[in-house]
Amino acid sequence: MQELTHYIDGAHAKGSSGRFSDVFNPATGEVQARCPLASAEELNKAVEIAAAAQPAWGATNPQRRARVLMKFVDLLNRDMDKLAEALSREHGKTVPDAKGDVQRGLEVVEYCIGAPQMLKGEFTDSAGPGIDMYSMRQPLGVTAGITPFNFPAMIPMWMFAPAIACGNAFILKPSERDPSVPLMLAELLEEAGLPKGILQVVNGDKEAVDAILDHPVIQSIGFVGSTPIAEYIYGRGCSNGKRVQCFGGAKNHMIVMPDADMDQAADALVGAGYGAAGERCMAISVAVPVGDETADRLIEKLVPRIEKLKVGPYTAGDDVDYGPVVTAAAKENILRLVESGVEQGAKLVVDGRDFNLQGYEDGFFVGPHLFDNVTPEMDIYKKEIFGPVLSTVRAKTYEEALGYAMDHEYGNGTAIFTRDGDTARDFANRINIGMIGINVPIPVPLAYHTFGGWKKSAFGDLNQHGPDAFKFYTRTKTITSRWPSGLKEGGEFHFKAMD
Ligand code: NAD
Repeated sequence: MQELTHYIDGAHAKGSSGRFSDVFNPATGEVQARCPLASAEELNKAVEIAAAAQPAWGATNPQRRARVLMKFVDLLNRDMDKLAEALSREHGKTVPDAKGDVQRGLEVVEYCIGAPQMLKGEFTDSAGPGIDMYSMRQPLGVTAGITPFNFPAMIPMWMFAPAIACGNAFILKPSERDPSVPLMLAELLEEAGLPKGILQVVNGDKEAVDAILDHPVIQSIGFVGSTPIAEYIYGRGCSNGKRVQCFGGAKNHMIVMPDADMDQAADALVGAGYGAAGERCMAISVAVPVGDETADRLIEKLVPRIEKLKVGPYTAGDDVDYGPVVTAAAKENILRLVESGVEQGAKLVVDGRDFNLQGYEDGFFVGPHLFDNVTPEMDIYKKEIFGPVLSTVRAKTYEEALGYAMDHEYGNGTAIFTRDGDTARDFANRINIGMIGINVPIPVPLAYHTFGGWKKSAFGDLNQHGPDAFKFYTRTKTITSRWPSGLKEGGEFHFKAMD
């Protein structure tokens, strides 16, 4: 069995804590690798190395730093197949989906190549008599990020690309469930010319995270994962005086108006609800058709599409719509919530509970589920299921539908399907959610916009990537300068008395 490493000071480093966690192949259920779980001492060592390496990197001109990222983009494209295969093997998602994971990270790296433009600062000539005022953006120093299992390429790149482009050193603590791709990214960055110690990968669990939270040298922490951990990290990180941004869980509603193109809405729901086995923070997990007739038409369109979904291992290629979920524990949790939905009175229209894949009986596959008549008191509505389970909540009116999305504690993404511009506009204006799709089911903003939810889906005041990332990873320094008038007469050729 493969023993994975950390990536410290430009080299793979074996774990020394003696603690490991299992990395599964979710398709077969086999343990394929052991991930070292760092001790606080291992984390401290990485911070020491980062702190020593960062000043020279911070003083390197931004264009040279950007050139490293430019080369990194080439290497990501060169190794795309290799990265996607490694990602699918540990995560379980299909290979095209794994390529999307790498691609959406790569696009943020491309955006960060524009760092010289983003870091230019501001200048006011003659702010007062003989006074100029200017602001510059300087790196924070040593920064860190803690990332989830569901996008092991994209989310680390969303964090470390802007951090590095701004001249910081970055310590990545990826998910211990699929740590191989983050290690490969660190290798590629070094091949691209990044100096040692600027990007380090420290694998681990709560012990490593707590060491990050309490380390006095680490200036900022980015976190993406579930809401309870996001709240914990935000609270402890902020109370230690760090700059912290945390992105948490989701329960994304899609409102389907009576005038929507029902085929289009059903296709969108199937992709957004079941793609990546529902393990996306921007997955749609609640459909809200407006009016019983709309609901009946929608369910009628959804059922045959869902029953046709092909569930299988990534090795089956294009033949598969989605793969297994990440662990046996995740599978158990999903099936437990499905049971609770049945017990609490929701109608299970498509029942995936007995799903079994021949030859992959030990894999963590979950069949697709569709619930109708879900109500807000049910656990399947309140909780993030993070699996291939779509709930339908019937609303009588648009206002009632809007209210469901607005009253839910999460506020990551949402969508509306309608042909009516006025309704769409009203929805976009009034909804208290961060990312909105209008006839678009998964409205993930592109690299040059920013990504972030509202309510319990995000903590902190700046979003990920886009211009916000350059604010998050730099501090502003503002200089007011006045120069007394000096000699303007030209050279003097004799010693002057200092009187
Ligand atoms: P998770 O919260 O279990 O883990 C995220 C990270 O936190 C991992 O690196 C993990 O090692 C660490 N961690 C876990 N428990 C910890 C603890 N007790 N103390 C300190 N650190 C701990 O999340 P996950 O299961 O890896 O990812 C799925 C979750 O992430 C879902 O809730 C999903 O909605 C969310 N997510 C959100 C976004 C977003 O942008 N809002 C994007 C992707 C995923």
